[in-house]
Amino acid sequence: MATTTSYNPYNNVELQTYKNHTKQEVSDLIDKADKRFYSWRETSYSERKKLMLAAAAELKKNTREYAEMMSLEMGKPISQAIGEVEKCAWVCEFYAENAEKQLQDEVVQTDAFKSYVSYEPLGIVLAVMPWNYPFWQVFRFAAPALMAGNIGLLKHASNVFGSALNIEKVFKRAGFPENCFTTLLIGSKDVKEVLENEKVKAVTLTGSGPAGASVASIAGENIKKSVLELGGNNALIVMKDADIDKAVATCVQARFQNTGQSCIAGKRLIIDESISEEFVEKMVIKVRELKSGDPMDEKTYVGTLAREDLAKDLEKQVNASLKSGAKLAIGGNRQGAYYEPTILTNVSQKMTVFEEETFGPVLSVTTFKTVEEAVEMSNNSEFGLGVSIFSKNIEAAEKLAFQFDEGAVFINELVKSDPRLPFGGIKKSGYGRELSQHGIHEFVNRKTIFIN
Ligand code: NDP
Repeated sequence: MATTTSYNPYNNVELQTYKNHTKQEVSDLIDKADKRFYSWRETSYSERKKLMLAAAAELKKNTREYAEMMSLEMGKPISQAIGEVEKCAWVCEFYAENAEKQLQDEVVQTDAFKSYVSYEPLGIVLAVMPWNYPFWQVFRFAAPALMAGNIGLLKHASNVFGSALNIEKVFKRAGFPENCFTTLLIGSKDVKEVLENEKVKAVTLTGSGPAGASVASIAGENIKKSVLELGGNNALIVMKDADIDKAVATCVQARFQNTGQSCIAGKRLIIDESISEEFVEKMVIKVRELKSGDPMDEKTYVGTLAREDLAKDLEKQVNASLKSGAKLAIGGNRQGAYYEPTILTNVSQKMTVFEEETFGPVLSVTTFKTVEEAVEMSNNSEFGLGVSIFSKNIEAAEKLAFQFDEGAVFINELVKSDPRLPFGGIKKSGYGRELSQHGIHEFVNRKTIFIN
């Protein structure tokens, strides 16, 4: 019998061992979910809204319970875990209030007596999700999917099964009918069979490139819709006319929140050479002030990475770059799953920390002489999730936006997700969009109705 054990990455203490679902159990759960679909899709928007608002209320009521599990399982500082649960309540409220409007019939004038597009649910949507935002990544999929009349089936990362079960609990406690949202306790090798099941209609994956490629190819072979949210190597571009103190504070947050484990984190600081020294000095002061420690301590800002192997991978990337000539401005040490907040200067475009995504608290610094050079450096990445530009000349910065191969351009702000705005990337960052009306439209059948 397959089992999965979770460990606290902060102290390596074993948390819990879960019995994985067997093939038969998975198949039975899919059958039940499929059966539920046919009654769920008949429910009115007002009924779904009531339930989704109840889910938001449940998240607000038991925030601490859900946040603590995340901190224990993957080392997220508790204050940030609480913020994450609260953000999930926001996305539930957003779709509770807006789904009906976003999915209302779209009348199109043609030669018909009447013609329109009707947005209808697809059925069971599988979500393969990562550990870095164990709640948020799931809720930003689940809230629109359920409001659209779909059914959610979650395969969460193997180190956060406690949070996966808690998410199922949120929907149960909110009063959703049984099997509207189901957590499968399975490993990544079991995903293929789930996706091949004819009752599963589509898949969304957030995670690494290899995981995305594998799942998308299975979806492709089975002609099923997929959405991929993969990695990112966002640049933080600081122009010489930027408000330096504000930009320093924003860049520190962009890189070090969630202990750097975010696809949209600003990983490459690309800065005008004339202000680079002053900027890095100020950043080092701020980074020194970030409190590392026990994720369960309210004052901790930097926790451990989610697993020790991830910290070791980061260490390798930093060491390779140091070997190629990068310089340490601060940090550079690892203890178990903890990696010190680190800034590397003198980074060239050929170095590992520039070319590869660093999924932890490591910032690379590269300087530019001209704006054209800055844009080129930023675009010199296989990823295309987002970029931040810092400048007081907003007009000029906005004109530049068009030149970036990215899913998002943020000016004087870190790239962040917001239920009201679409979220997603291009290039190796994936395809499709989550959040906003664009997100809810990913998993619906746009049915043409023509009446004469
Ligand atoms: P993975 O991408 O491997 O894991 C994410 C999810 O995908 C998990 O649920 C995992 O399951 C599942 N998965 C992995 N491989 C497959 C597969 N072949 N078929 C089906 N499902 C699969 O992330 P890692 O934990 O290995 O982290 C490695 C790197 O991925 C990070 O360093 C970072 O660069 C990137 N990453 C990006 C994220 C983002 O937000 N875009 C989030 C997390 C990681 P299981 O846990 O059972 O293996």
